[in-house]
Amino acid sequence: MHREGGAWGVDRAREAGAVAGSVEALEHGRRAERNVPLLRTHDRYGNRIDQVELDPSWHWLLRGAVEREIHSLPWLDPHPGAHVVRAALFMLWGNVNAGVMCPVSMTYAAVPALRDGAPDLAAEWEPCLTAPDYDTGALAGMAMTEKQGGSDVRANITRADPVGDGLYEVHGHKWFCSYPPCDVFLVLAQAPAGLSCFLVERGSGMEFQRLKDKLGTRSLPSSEVEFRGARGRLVGEEGRGVPAIIRMVNHTRLDCLLGGATGMRRGTVEAIHHARHRSAFGALLVDQPAMRNVLADLAIESEAATIAALRVARAYDDPSDAAFRRFATAVMKYWVCKRAAAHAAEALECLGGNGFVEESVMPLLYRDAPLNSIWEGSGNVAALDVLRAMVKEPEGLPAFLEECGLAAGADARLDAHLERMRASVGDVFAGGDPQFEARRVVEDLAVALQGSLLVRSAPAAVADAFCAARLDGGGGRVYGTLPAGVDAGAIVDRALPA
Ligand SMILES: Cc1cc2nc3c(=O)[nH]c(=O)nc-3n(C[C@H](O)[C@H](O)[C@H](O)COP(=O)(O)OP(=O)(O)OC[C@H]3O[C@@H](n4cnc5c(N)ncnc54)[C@H](O)[C@@H]3O)c2cc1C
Repeated sequence: MHREGGAWGVDRAREAGAVAGSVEALEHGRRAERNVPLLRTHDRYGNRIDQVELDPSWHWLLRGAVEREIHSLPWLDPHPGAHVVRAALFMLWGNVNAGVMCPVSMTYAAVPALRDGAPDLAAEWEPCLTAPDYDTGALAGMAMTEKQGGSDVRANITRADPVGDGLYEVHGHKWFCSYPPCDVFLVLAQAPAGLSCFLVERGSGMEFQRLKDKLGTRSLPSSEVEFRGARGRLVGEEGRGVPAIIRMVNHTRLDCLLGGATGMRRGTVEAIHHARHRSAFGALLVDQPAMRNVLADLAIESEAATIAALRVARAYDDPSDAAFRRFATAVMKYWVCKRAAAHAAEALECLGGNGFVEESVMPLLYRDAPLNSIWEGSGNVAALDVLRAMVKEPEGLPAFLEECGLAAGADARLDAHLERMRASVGDVFAGGDPQFEARRVVEDLAVALQGSLLVRSAPAAVADAFCAARLDGGGGRVYGTLPAGVDAGAIVDRALPA
């Protein structure tokens, strides 16, 4: 937080961390996850009510996030560093329950989309959407994905018919729509001039069909919804719905990145803690070399994710960082979210059989881990977005490489990686099929940024292990394959001071 301009928020983070790590909060997280939400579509007379019953613990958690302004801090207090402070708060609160961070994230992300696309709607809704008051404030959701079109939103068939006074009637369905209790939703629908973005208030004409029976984030109600004449108001121009909602998506992608880093940090801490207290074959696990390698490898991945997440968050604070922000968000969202699932599996295994049992929390981390990679641009789509940005926003890649180059000369392995990458990244468009190589290109870019940040700011043991294992071919194919010579003990001690 100090490095990225958020020093003024350290006390807030301490307070949030102390509460998020309390027995009470962890118990609320467990209860919210166990007592899954229930959709009640009708009352006893058959009238539609479309209400979701949620465990009181869910409300405790969401209230805690709202009261700490995790959904709104940068919009209420556009102090330099506000996005960084919010990112830190997000990562702390997300330790308790990942599901609850979904409406927090969408509400945060809706505000810039409204400000840009519909200042009148922003003036109307922003005071409620940013209020740090759970009872009188409002929450925002988004509804883009349809049965036949999730990544490919241009395949949407939901219709929006103009009915005068700037109002549209929305008819159609959405196949995923998280958090039905939201007060407003940004919805994509086909208007006469093409795919457009609308603000729809929950209420008449919006009927929730059922809740998804999901692998993870089970505390969070994600629904299927039918629109039957719900009233919508335009956000952005008619026919320009994708650019309007992309403004929101860019901010939720930042939160996917933060969420991926959060899960890795929790997994690392749980694994190290367990290994410090469990003995096998006459010694504590943490003192056994094979386990030290696994723990240190998990720790450098977690630190690399965290350092990148906070650097990207800083880019949201600084308008002159816009080119880097757009590009780096796509690159790091792809990479950190991709690494998270394998990381969760390995962290879980550090606890042995106990890691497979619910009380350990590891199954929860494991189930939640793939979501951030699917949501807001699944792996391929995120990687292809980076290629698209290289062509359509040509200032992004140079800004990204310039940031990576700030560490030039500090580590020969990083220098060599940067040189290789600079030479090859342009080649992706030279011949063959660039899309076929998209993931490899983005992966190279992502580890370059992580390496550069670690070399500049992390202790030598961490930076050295990262460069050796991730940039220089010294690491293996699974976690726990750091090359000989790295200071695993120092890395583990830094990740969780004893
Ligand atoms: C828990 C949860 C909550 C969600 N909440 C919401 C919500 O609130 N609002 C909302 O609108 N949506 C929501 N979603 C939906 C989510 O955003 C989509 O599932 C996601 O964008 C992928 O779309 P899809 O499911 O249609 O998959 P598809 O688009 O069918 O993609 C399937 C696979 O194909 C890949 N793919 C797609 N296009 C290409 C291509 N051109 N080349 C190569 N590979 C490609 C994708 O990467 C993916 O791996 C939620 C999803 C989940 C799981």
